[in-house]
Amino acid sequence: MKFKDLAELFSKLESTNKRLEMIEILSNFFQNLKTSGEFDDLDKIAYLLQGQLVSNIKQAPKIGIAEKMIIEALSLHSGVESSKIKEVLIKKGDIGVTAEYILSKKKKQKSLFDFSENSLNNNVSLDIHEIYSALQRMSITEGSGSNDKKLGILRGLMRKCSALETKYLLRIITSTLRVGVSTLTILDGLALGITGDKINREYIEKAYNLHPDLGDITRMLVEEGMDAIKQVKVSYGIPIKSMLASRVPYGEIIEKLGSPFKAEYKLDGERLQIHKRGNKIKLFSRRLLEISDQYPDVCKFVKNNVKTENAILEGEVVAMDVFYEKMLPFQVLSRRRRKYDVKDVSKEIPVGLFLFDILLLDNESYIDKPFPLRRKKLEEIINEKDEIKLVESKLIHSTEELLEFFQKARKKGNEGIIAKSIKEDAVYQAGNRGFLWIKMKGLEGRKLKDSVDVALIGAFHGRGRRKGVYGTYIGAVYDPLTDKFEAFTRVASGWTDEIMEFLKKEMEQHEVDKKPKNVSCEDIPDQWFHPKVVIEIIGDEITISDKFPSLGYSLRFPVFQRIRTEKGPKDATTTDEIKQLHSTQ
Ligand code: ATP
Repeated sequence: MKFKDLAELFSKLESTNKRLEMIEILSNFFQNLKTSGEFDDLDKIAYLLQGQLVSNIKQAPKIGIAEKMIIEALSLHSGVESSKIKEVLIKKGDIGVTAEYILSKKKKQKSLFDFSENSLNNNVSLDIHEIYSALQRMSITEGSGSNDKKLGILRGLMRKCSALETKYLLRIITSTLRVGVSTLTILDGLALGITGDKINREYIEKAYNLHPDLGDITRMLVEEGMDAIKQVKVSYGIPIKSMLASRVPYGEIIEKLGSPFKAEYKLDGERLQIHKRGNKIKLFSRRLLEISDQYPDVCKFVKNNVKTENAILEGEVVAMDVFYEKMLPFQVLSRRRRKYDVKDVSKEIPVGLFLFDILLLDNESYIDKPFPLRRKKLEEIINEKDEIKLVESKLIHSTEELLEFFQKARKKGNEGIIAKSIKEDAVYQAGNRGFLWIKMKGLEGRKLKDSVDVALIGAFHGRGRRKGVYGTYIGAVYDPLTDKFEAFTRVASGWTDEIMEFLKKEMEQHEVDKKPKNVSCEDIPDQWFHPKVVIEIIGDEITISDKFPSLGYSLRFPVFQRIRTEKGPKDATTTDEIKQLHSTQ
């Protein structure tokens, strides 16, 4: 497919923020694509619509091209001085928009004098796969002279692009391609465009939750149709989207789940999805990326103590003291990520694996089986040891029993508890935050009983002791329907000097000159950021507030708790959850 057609699609999508219009635009696009029979780049189109180069279950390749080099390429290409381009960039705040502006202006000037030749917008249009192979070449170009080589490749691409195409090309290269459509909207567009019926979105979404690679799902739908989509199953090597827990006031948990129900410790570690195929063990993070290399010790525990050939299990890995008697907080576990020699870290920071679910056993799917059956199967196949066991759980018949178990969980160093339904319909709901799992993390003395995860979108310079670092950050929550980050609160307390230093460095990579398009925020910070880094905060109470009118809620007395390295920006607390928290506090 021609990149030109995709650039036009992006441009149309960016021209509206109405979800229904976006669905229609996407649906028309997919319908035409289906009729054209041009299926070569289906998967790439899907990823690019998600604002990614590759599937979200794969590590994106590092193109390794600095903004300075892009400005140089643009300058050579357009004949406009780099200093002028930088000026425009500061005003526009986006490299793609800057390029489009410079090239369109240049084209206008040129056409006044020269009608015959137009090197800034010739008729040679790039194919999408040509861009991918150029990017692939850039990502493997290393060593001396590599900058020149990359510059050459980039200029080659630019020569074949119109101003509009250059806008999106540069955004792709700088990983800032976001056209503001959420994955749910893309799924709606696919349902309507390919099957002619929006109702099929439900099945396509279910398939996507079990196989969260939008490229594969799009290809399957277009090439094989709905029957294939309905057949999508959990499979080895492909992480499935995690089931998540909701919140309700603790007094209402028993009403929601019915009596009795099970309560489990909510461990303060990192979630792992474990895929065991014979002796091959793969571990996936909550963000669905493979992290087996970080936990060679966990792979060994699984290999030696899971008494079945093949299985997909879920559990939490937790830092332990050297005697395996005490669970240590998440902060200790997160030190592992910063160390290079993981083998030594296994001794320095030992971990334990606490299992809580099973999704597949050999070829038998467990996700549609009720929770008690899943837990029973898990008990049968695990050889419990200090370093690998099932998470502690208890059958609960009353709120008093629940509170007692909760206090015990907290005393043992857990975050709290997760209450789980044991009814017949208590299946594993992949990718869903429903009411079959309810979490309870006590934060005594506060109205707001739970913490909130916010993506950092802006910051204010610190003063006095905090000179040189940021003193206050703005945190935003996520709206999956609009794919936007809504400013929620300023956070100025709870930081240690070490964290402030660390964050200042970390956030440098995400600095932007203007408010990013996927951010709603009425505050004007000293520095804007692309929403990438997530932190956990607690607060006194969620209030209805006009501090951030777009969301309409804010947090009183927010206090930083920790950086959530295992969460991506889209895993931040959602706007709906904030409303729910507000109504239940
Ligand atoms: P949080 O911010 O509270 O960790 P989350 O957004 O990551 O939550 P939730 O649905 O709120 O996800 O809570 C589920 C998380 O709790 C899981 O991702 C997992 O890491 C962790 N967890 C700890 N113990 C358990 C357990 N016994 N069962 C399920 N999840 C558990």
